[in-house]
Amino acid sequence: MKLARDQVSEPRDAEARRKVAPVICYPVDTLPRPDLAAYQAARTGWEKIDEVVVPPRDARCFSVPAGCFFRIVSIEGPQVGDLNLWSADDLNERFFSGKTRALNGTHVSTGDQLWSSLPYLRPMATITHDTLDWYGFDEFGGSVHDVIGTRCDPYTHRLLSGHDYHHCCHSNLTRALAHRLGRPKDEVEPAVHDVLNVFMCTGFTRDTGQYFMKASPVRPGDYLEFFAEIDLLGALSACPGGDCSAQHSSDVAACHPLLVEVYRPKTPPQGWTSPTRNAYGRQHGE
Ligand SMILES: [Zn+2]
Repeated sequence: MKLARDQVSEPRDAEARRKVAPVICYPVDTLPRPDLAAYQAARTGWEKIDEVVVPPRDARCFSVPAGCFFRIVSIEGPQVGDLNLWSADDLNERFFSGKTRALNGTHVSTGDQLWSSLPYLRPMATITHDTLDWYGFDEFGGSVHDVIGTRCDPYTHRLLSGHDYHHCCHSNLTRALAHRLGRPKDEVEPAVHDVLNVFMCTGFTRDTGQYFMKASPVRPGDYLEFFAEIDLLGALSACPGGDCSAQHSSDVAACHPLLVEVYRPKTPPQGWTSPTRNAYGRQHGE
């Protein structure tokens, strides 16, 4: 139970109110689902067209054409990655962690789709394989690849510690995007957004509801694989927290590089077409 924060007495029917059964906010029976088998079949005979090594405590950008796949691969040692995605043509269309969470739950895995921001709201990428899918939820309520965290950033760090730390994921992503676009850091910084925490093991404490992290179960050779639904610009930061077993925003944690691989299938998945932006007409009523 949540810790009481105030001197408020319980009403007489408190238990009855607590016992009301929950309902799922967004039932997904009507959510169009990808044909996962067709996606997975399209991997046969694919060709690797690019790879990018993301150095520890730093970030790199990468491009994935619609209809291609990409993998984020653990190499050398346990390492968490913070992923941002944009539409390659329009930085305003970016990964929407909050709605992805509302639709898929707190952690994502095979078959889940990463949705873009309003007013676009379409799948940007579909997860087609996750070697850590076996983990499920542990006894603490922790799981892997969350859409509940934000990204470690120098502003919160400053707020809590009074110090500056420049190699937070937020700053890493900002530098990588600025470098890729040839634009100043302060100009591109607002495009950096809440991430998919790849390989990170997180949850909420049962007693206080606080966001927690624990050592990632990822090991070299593990990967998370995506299918690009639209032309993507991605950025991945190898978090300064390493496996995030103790702290982030630090120079103490053991950190390792991450590998991004991009694959082009011989032919696109059978029946697949790149999704159009959301059909809502944007009238918003009177
Ligand atoms: Zn981080």
